[in-house]
Amino acid sequence: MIRYQITPSNPAAHLFEVHVEVDKPMPEGQAFSFPAWIPGSYMIRDFARHVVEFSAFHDGEPWPWTKLDKQTWQLAPAQGPVTIRLLAYAKDLSVRGAYLDNMRGYFNGPCVLPAANGHEDQPCTLTILQGQSVSWQLATGMRRLSGDDFGFGEFAAENYIDLIDYPVEMGRFSHASFTACSIPHQIIISGRHQANMTRLCTDLEKICRYQIQLFGEPAPMDSYTFMTFVTADGYGGLEHGNSTSLMCARKDLPLPTDAPDQVRDSYRTYLGLCSHEYFHSWNIKRIRPDVFSPADLSREVHTELLWAFEGITSYYDDLTLVRTNLISCQSYLELLGQTITRVYQGKGQLRQTLTESSFDAWTRFYKQDENAPNAIVSYYAKGALAALALDLKLRDQSQGKCTLDDLMRLLWSRHGKTGVGVPERGIQSLAEELLGESLEDFFELILYRTDPLPLETLLQPLGVELNWRAAEHHADRGGKAACGPALPWLGIRIGEDPLGVRVQMADEDGPAVAAGLSAGDVIIALDELRVTATMWNDVLSRYRPGDRLNVHAFRRDELIRVQVLLAEAPTRVAWLSVADTGLTGPGRDWLHVRR
Ligand code: ZN
Repeated sequence: MIRYQITPSNPAAHLFEVHVEVDKPMPEGQAFSFPAWIPGSYMIRDFARHVVEFSAFHDGEPWPWTKLDKQTWQLAPAQGPVTIRLLAYAKDLSVRGAYLDNMRGYFNGPCVLPAANGHEDQPCTLTILQGQSVSWQLATGMRRLSGDDFGFGEFAAENYIDLIDYPVEMGRFSHASFTACSIPHQIIISGRHQANMTRLCTDLEKICRYQIQLFGEPAPMDSYTFMTFVTADGYGGLEHGNSTSLMCARKDLPLPTDAPDQVRDSYRTYLGLCSHEYFHSWNIKRIRPDVFSPADLSREVHTELLWAFEGITSYYDDLTLVRTNLISCQSYLELLGQTITRVYQGKGQLRQTLTESSFDAWTRFYKQDENAPNAIVSYYAKGALAALALDLKLRDQSQGKCTLDDLMRLLWSRHGKTGVGVPERGIQSLAEELLGESLEDFFELILYRTDPLPLETLLQPLGVELNWRAAEHHADRGGKAACGPALPWLGIRIGEDPLGVRVQMADEDGPAVAAGLSAGDVIIALDELRVTATMWNDVLSRYRPGDRLNVHAFRRDELIRVQVLLAEAPTRVAWLSVADTGLTGPGRDWLHVRR
């Protein structure tokens, strides 16, 4: 048994105090290591760098230690129990981090709780003390050994990997609960908000029930906790075995003033996020790539399969919303059109395959710079489209007899329930087994090539048409038919800047780059008139493709002047339309729950 204890000891200084006690240290001297990354987020974060004090004790006396590498402390050999004490700085608000101030505490295990090396398989207890924060509540999915509901106390985990899979929220928060397929679910919302908690329970219950029934009862978890931290403009989520940490913008939550059947676009985003993380309870937390079973948390672990774990999950997140009638078919097709637009707007999709995107997630997708749209493709967005293509392909080839749902159930029974990892080419072989024929060419096309996915061909038998048009303006996300004329094209994405308009991204083949502008430049005048981000579309609407535009901009602190030859926007914005007769063909129940 490894005993952990954590206290929000100095909230104003953002410091957690952590004690770890090992009864039977390793004979060569007990070592303690922090993970370099947190499961679900594929980037080296080196959590050990937040340790600001470290000390060790044996028999009540300070005990010597040395540092072996960036994340490992080795104690001198000792006969009998050893304890370490550390202070960890916590000021990362993200769902992957740890945070502490005098209003709120939050942590993920990998940020503050080191493993006792050689004892990773042993059961652990975690005592969470309230310190000076006497009025705080506490929420976590970890199994409680002592203390009241939402109180501080002692918790238990089966082993180290289990211990670090339960984020902990502390502070004052709202909570509500519901039951889905007889599994108790909690909703925790921290940060100031006015959310309609009853509405949240009603809507999330539909999502949870649908996904549990999709994979088949019983659900793999005994309880589930949705933990959301609300800020002005946050967005993010991280999946865990029986909980999820989410961040959202205040406006994303349903308000008491919203009409009962109204799902604002921002609330649709939040529901999609909840749906996404819940789907991960099966697809990545239990059905896992072979290389993550178990994953080496001390260094990068590469897999070509993230397209399946993030892409298929991204496909089902919004699909769940339409299948449970939380959003309309039209609303769903709009979201799909936006995803298609996201993938095909940049040149990156011509340069990186889906499997390359997965493999290089650590250094490319997670370390994006301003050139990302020209250089990489998202395994989330293109992965979701590959999942759509696979679903429609299965329906088409089997005359509607089998679908991606069947493949997910097969993955669940072979790899989820058993804990046997999915081999790198495992999705293809199970799909072929399901269908009873080779899908070699199809998988080669969607995963290992940069050719466009055959979406037009696959959607057409359903009566769904994939339409393309020009972007109307620099922030056109697609998904809808054109509303008006397209503005002349510069090939840049812009944002506000105190001096004018910041070029956030520049299309490598666009007119702005051809004229010598680049990402990071701040445009201050167009044809000798001052310009701001809010005026941008209005100013451009006075020009036509073929016009020449004099641009003044700052690059760092140096003024530059270029002339941009405005072009017609390329037709890279997608939207979907359905025949009046609705969905047809063998896949016509695609957006409905199959009974
Ligand atoms: Zn995800």
